[in-house]
Amino acid sequence: MSAEIIDGSAVAKQLLAETAARAKAFTERAGRAPCLATVLVGQDPASMSYVRMKQNRSAKNGIDSRKVELPETTTTDELIAAITGLSDDPQVDGILLQHPVPEQIDERAAFEAIAPRKDVDGVTMHSLAATALDLPSFHSCTPEGIVRLLDSYRVELAGKRAVVIGRSPILGMPVGLLLLGRNATVTYCHSGTVDLADQVRQADVVVAAVGRPELIKGEWIKPGAVVVDAGYNPGNVGDVEQAVAVERASMITPVPGGVGPMTIAVLLAQTVAAAEASLG
Ligand code: NAP
Repeated sequence: MSAEIIDGSAVAKQLLAETAARAKAFTERAGRAPCLATVLVGQDPASMSYVRMKQNRSAKNGIDSRKVELPETTTTDELIAAITGLSDDPQVDGILLQHPVPEQIDERAAFEAIAPRKDVDGVTMHSLAATALDLPSFHSCTPEGIVRLLDSYRVELAGKRAVVIGRSPILGMPVGLLLLGRNATVTYCHSGTVDLADQVRQADVVVAAVGRPELIKGEWIKPGAVVVDAGYNPGNVGDVEQAVAVERASMITPVPGGVGPMTIAVLLAQTVAAAEASLG
């Protein structure tokens, strides 16, 4: 058996097309385009390139960018003041704080300065709690992208045993909550898990969100399981041993071209949704 490849690039392309159409309709109605504010502290080359990519992709899909660039020496209070200004600005619909921020900054405090209605990256405590309670909110983009991918491929989640490896606040934890919200039976594995292989062997759905190349061995995958590999390691290597897993899984997300393209597509979709909500 060779797994069906879950084509994240194609699903993301479709979502971006829908988002661009909604952005256009919003612009006609509101007399301005939806606006995503990006906040970058310092000059880390990877962060600068991520922000540039998000701004370019926004422009391509009819979304304006508001660029806020702050020096490396910015304090927590200064960053909070900048973000609070964006939270209060009616011309700004969504706020993205590029992270990690320099170490002198209290990142959590900075995230919490984002008004929940503008938290299109899903990083605030409000958004995480609402995700857990299954209440309307923005979701962290990669987890939301994963669930949208599974929906696109009509993967049934109710009653399925899902194993999530990783519990970070932006990825592992919220993706488990979203799967729980779909009535999957969810197990989290993390660095303290002692029987990772045994846990993965029981999973109908595996979500790998660790950041360790090929940590999840292909032979651990239960035949017929659905495998989502969110890991992205240097050299385009995922967290799953893809070459072996593809022979056992029924569906698998490739690396690259699986989960990755969904993240930015969800960010833009949530920005347009925030803009629409601002009109009431
Ligand atoms: P992170 O904050 O470093 O979290 C990693 C998680 O993996 C932690 O919960 C950690 O456990 C767990 N872990 C580490 N070693 C482990 C082991 N040996 N066994 C089991 N669990 C282990 O990373 P992240 O931000 O969630 O990102 C994870 C991966 O996803 C990275 O490769 C990243 O590049 C990728 N990612 C991709 C996208 C995308 O758009 N495609 C977006 C975000 C992240 P503890 O909690 O116990 O430390």
